[in-house]
Amino acid sequence: MPRRSERCYDTGLSDTLKPQHGSFLHDTDHKSLGPVIVSRSDHNISRANISQSALKVLYRLKDAGYQAFIVGGGVRDLLLERRPKDFDIATNADPDQIQDVFRNSRLIGRRFRLAHVRFGREIVEVATFRASGAEPDDERSHSDSGRILRDNVYGTIDEDVWRRDFTINALYYNIADFSIWDYVGGVEDVRSRTLRLIGDPVTRYHEDPVRMLRAARFSAKLDFTLAPDTAAPIKELGGLLKDVPPARLFDELLKLFHGGHAARSFDVLRHYDLLRYLFRDTQAALETPEGEKIAAFIRRGLENTDARIREDKPVTPTFLYAVFLWFPIKALADKLERDGWQSGQAMLEASQRIVAGQQTAFPRRFSSPMKELLAMQWRFTQRQGPRAARMLQHKRFRAAYDFLLLRATAGEVDQETVAWWTDIQNLPPEEQGKMTGGKPRSGRRRRGGRRRGAQSEITDVVS
Ligand code: ATP
Ligand code: MG
Repeated sequence: MPRRSERCYDTGLSDTLKPQHGSFLHDTDHKSLGPVIVSRSDHNISRANISQSALKVLYRLKDAGYQAFIVGGGVRDLLLERRPKDFDIATNADPDQIQDVFRNSRLIGRRFRLAHVRFGREIVEVATFRASGAEPDDERSHSDSGRILRDNVYGTIDEDVWRRDFTINALYYNIADFSIWDYVGGVEDVRSRTLRLIGDPVTRYHEDPVRMLRAARFSAKLDFTLAPDTAAPIKELGGLLKDVPPARLFDELLKLFHGGHAARSFDVLRHYDLLRYLFRDTQAALETPEGEKIAAFIRRGLENTDARIREDKPVTPTFLYAVFLWFPIKALADKLERDGWQSGQAMLEASQRIVAGQQTAFPRRFSSPMKELLAMQWRFTQRQGPRAARMLQHKRFRAAYDFLLLRATAGEVDQETVAWWTDIQNLPPEEQGKMTGGKPRSGRRRRGGRRRGAQSEITDVVS
C-alpha cells in the first residue's frame, strides 16, 4: 500500500500553495516512492461534475472489492474546472473480472484488452493497470529507435503511472475516499500550468514520437507552458514522426484541429517546428516570401473552424485540408500551367499530386470533395457561358463559395468576383441565365434554395 503523505496540498488552484513540493517528485527515477495523497478537503473535484455512468462503474468496482480510479484527462480537466470529454477508469481488476462485474460490458482490443461498459449512449472505458517495460517473454518490446512496440502487461497502479505521458495526465482520483493519488507532481503542474513529461524526455519521445504532437496539443488546448526539459528535445527529435503510421497521424491531426483550439494548435506546432511532419508542402509554402500571407489565410480558416465548434456546428476534414493545402496546390498548378497545362487540368493534376504525397492518411471520402472544391475555385473566374450556370447547380457549390469567401478575406479574390457570385445565387433562374449568358438546365433547376442532401458540409464556414 502506498504511504499516506502527511504533506498537505492546497489544490484550490487559486489559493496559495505551500512550497512543500520538493524536487523529488519531478525526479521520476524514484519510482519506489509512493504517491502523495491529496485528500478531498484539499482539492476541488466534486462528484457533481463526474458523469453518473462513470460514478456507477467506480462504485460497482469498489463494492466488488477492487481499486477504482478515474485517471488521465478526466482528473486533469476537473482540477482545471473544465468539462472533461470523457472519464477513463483504471482498476486492479483484470478484464475477465471487470466483465464479471458488468454484464453490460464488452472487451475490446486484442493485445491489451479494455472493457467498454455501456449505459445507453454513453460508454465508459475501464482499463486494468498496466506495467510498461518488463516483458514476460523475450519478444521485442522496443524498436531500434526505442519506439514501444508492445505495451501489454498488467500491473499495479504504481507501475501504471510511469507509462503515462505527462504529469498532469497521471493523476488518479480514488473513489474509495475521493482523494487524488499523485506520484509525479501532477497537481502542482496543473496549478502552475506546466506540461511536463514523466521521466527522461528524450527516452519518452523515442518510445512514442506522437508525444511531441500531444505536447503541442495539450499546450494549445489548455494554454499550458512546456517545461524546459520537455520542450528542449522536440526540435531535434521531430524527425521521429516520419515513422509514425499515417492513420495515427490523421487521428492526432483531428484532435489538434477539431478540438476547438485549431488556431492555437497551428501556432504551437509552428513554434516547435512540428507542422512539417503533418503538412510538409504547407511548411515549404510558409517558408517562401508569401509565407506571412499564407499563415494569415490558414489561421483565418482555423479560426472559422474554432468558431463553428463553439457554435456546435459540424466540421469536416475536407475543409481542414483545403485550408492547409490550397496554397501548395495552387503553387504547383501555376507551375504546371507554365509548363503548358490548361488551367483547369493543372489544378486537378496539382491536387492529385499533393494529395498523393500526404504524410497523414487522408481518406478518399474527404480528399475527393476537397479536390472538387479546389478545382471549382478556378471556375469562379469564368463568369460567362453555360459553365458558370452549371456551377450554381453543382452539389459542392455552397462549400466552394464559402471557400471563395475565405480566400477573399485573405485578399486573394477581388471583391467584384465575390459580389457577382453572392448576388447571382439569390436570383431566379431566368435572371441567372441573363447574368451568365447561358441557359440553366431546366431539369436540374433548384427551387426555393438548396436541394435536400446537397447542403455543403462546410456551409457558413466563413459567415
Ligand atoms: P483528452 O482530453 O484529449 O481526451 P486525455 O489526457 O484523456 O486527453 P487520451 O488520448 O484520451 O488523452 O489518453 C488518456 C490517457 O492515456 C492520458 O491522459 C495519458 O495518461 C495516457 N496516454 C495517452 N496517450 C499516451 C501516450 N502516447 N503515451 C503515454 N501515455 C498516454
Ligand atoms: Mg481522454
